[in-house]
Amino acid sequence: MVTNLLDFDLEGLVAFCEQLGEKRFRATQLFRSIHQRGISDFSLMSDLAKLLREKLAKHAVVHALPVVSMHESADGTIKWLFDVGHGDAVEAVFIPESDRGTLCVSSQAGCAVGCRFCSTGHQGFSRNLSTAEILAQLWYAEHFLRRHLGLDERVISNVVMMGMGEPLQNYDALVPALRVMLDDHGYGLSRRRVTVSTSGVVSMMDRLAADCPVALAVSLHAPCDALRDSLVPLNRKYPLTELLDACLRYLPAAPRDFVTFEYCMLDGVNDSDLHAQELIALIRNHPHKGDKRKGISCKFNLIPFNPFPASGLLRSSTERVMQFAKKLSDAGIVTTVRKTRGDDIDAACGQLAGEVKDRTRVTHRIQLQRQTMPTKATGPTHHE
Ligand code: SAH
Ligand code: SF4
Repeated sequence: MVTNLLDFDLEGLVAFCEQLGEKRFRATQLFRSIHQRGISDFSLMSDLAKLLREKLAKHAVVHALPVVSMHESADGTIKWLFDVGHGDAVEAVFIPESDRGTLCVSSQAGCAVGCRFCSTGHQGFSRNLSTAEILAQLWYAEHFLRRHLGLDERVISNVVMMGMGEPLQNYDALVPALRVMLDDHGYGLSRRRVTVSTSGVVSMMDRLAADCPVALAVSLHAPCDALRDSLVPLNRKYPLTELLDACLRYLPAAPRDFVTFEYCMLDGVNDSDLHAQELIALIRNHPHKGDKRKGISCKFNLIPFNPFPASGLLRSSTERVMQFAKKLSDAGIVTTVRKTRGDDIDAACGQLAGEVKDRTRVTHRIQLQRQTMPTKATGPTHHE
């Protein structure tokens, strides 16, 4: 059987190499060649012994994802569509800023949570991505960008699991991928710069705190259960009190001393002054279990809704968003408004599935692409 080495964190690769009779330091060298140098062809891994390279060629591959398309926005945002087979495709988006480069990564093809304001949710659930498919997005983007920008150093400094899918509903594949992102022999990102965004899978928030605590973003979107039930169906399973309790339990393990709450601003739905007041009360008054303290250490990130026709929802006006932000800020809650990036290429939040909703069309495009491309795009290697 041929194994895809992108499926392993370092410990996994060490175990795999041991089966081939190779020592730990060889696994580390191999890991660095793959993730730090972006090499997929074993014959080009010149620091590995010839015998090992031959063994690897027999038993393993570094298999990235075929790229269906790439779009670059006027603001520098780059979006890739990757083929994950059977007509499914997922997207990753690179967002350059003056002090950082952020990659937004997908965790599933589609999503089972089905939020009303999210086009991935409207698309339905297809399947979980494997660890290799999650990492392939970072592996490809990082090494493509280095070549594209002519840089020899790291380009991606932050990863946010905010692409398609609910990362905590794909936990077993997610955690090894996070470990590779954090590993000094991998991408060497700090825990504060890797963010898992969740719609509130409470049980898995506890496991993440124990297994691999990274920065946490929670998609809140409503100040009360009735409204949140209608926007984020998962709220019926894990209502707000349970979700906020889970945030409190997460914080001691978290690399930052606050939780980021994301709040999608929907015109006339969740954006009134009254909603802001309810939200402030919810956050301030939430009791701590076991002592008398109240309130949750948090920041708010208001996301102007990116509309799509099937949602039947509209974006709040800029004035409304600013007013809502002011209400929260005046109450002492640090609040930012997310800049919408990559709008012109449909790369903004929740627009990611726009292109893939019609599966047949994607399959058709993938076929067209294959017909016009003599070699399959499996990602960059250092020596291309
Ligand atoms: N499933 C996870 C992560 C992916 S969604 C989650 O829900 O947190 C990433 C963020 O994009 C979430 O905060 C989500 O609420 C937001 N989002 C989804 N659709 C959106 C849209 N149409 N406009 C603006 N934000 C959206
Ligand atoms: Fe899934 Fe997140 Fe979209 Fe909700 S917002 S449907 S959880 S991807």
